[in-house]
Amino acid sequence: MLSIQPIVEPPSDGDIILPFVGKNAVLPLRLPPDVLFTRTQIAQEFGDYNREIPVGYWNQTPCYTIQLLEHQINALEHLTGSLYTLLGRVSDHVFNAFGRGLQLHHWWRDHRFCGRCGQTTELRDQGKALGCVDCNYQAYPRLNPCIIVAVKKGAELLLAAAAGRQTGFYSTLAGFIEPGESAEAAVAREVREEVGIEICNTRFFRSQAWPFPSQLMLGFIADYASGELILDPAEIADAGWFERESLPQIPPMASISGQLIQAAFSE
Ligand SMILES: [Zn+2]
Repeated sequence: MLSIQPIVEPPSDGDIILPFVGKNAVLPLRLPPDVLFTRTQIAQEFGDYNREIPVGYWNQTPCYTIQLLEHQINALEHLTGSLYTLLGRVSDHVFNAFGRGLQLHHWWRDHRFCGRCGQTTELRDQGKALGCVDCNYQAYPRLNPCIIVAVKKGAELLLAAAAGRQTGFYSTLAGFIEPGESAEAAVAREVREEVGIEICNTRFFRSQAWPFPSQLMLGFIADYASGELILDPAEIADAGWFERESLPQIPPMASISGQLIQAAFSE
């Protein structure tokens, strides 16, 4: 399991390395799913690599993430896939470690140059910041807080199919928190905007890091208060009230949406 703290020792052969090719994670195909590459294995199997960023400690061992190139991958030896395809196929601990790794790569890619003066940046503050070599502006990895909410009406739950997505899932409503807004206010606003109803009794459920690309999902359960379903066609293709025995296809339990649906029915 990953512990997020600055790495204090120098790099060594036993370090754990989380490799990516672009946005795709690379795992050893022939090892058990929770056994990760060491620095020695990376050198033997891939040779050179780019952009090494400290991630933290994986079971007390220093852990870094790197970028490989497509031609270095051998489909007979390595499993590659987007983080979404890993969801439910590897443990939550491995998923979370790669999720943090991918967010750090996005952060580095988007902050190679200072947003204030345009000069190049370098890793600083034990790898926690990218600092400008000229004006010293420091950019930290950015999280985007989002709310996700299960709305209950008696024994029924509100589920919606998002417009423009091909997943076929009916899911709980979700949206980004706006600057200056509390999470609870965002819950009420998103529900009002997307399906036209008012809610009450909003209560916190749990949160989940969701690296697609850098959301922090804050899960809530709320009760229906008033209004009829009026869908925003830009956001919602279909929505309705569902009982537990007649659910459409819903997101997997590895996602907070799947967990919220189960928890809301179990209250
Ligand atoms: Zn600068």
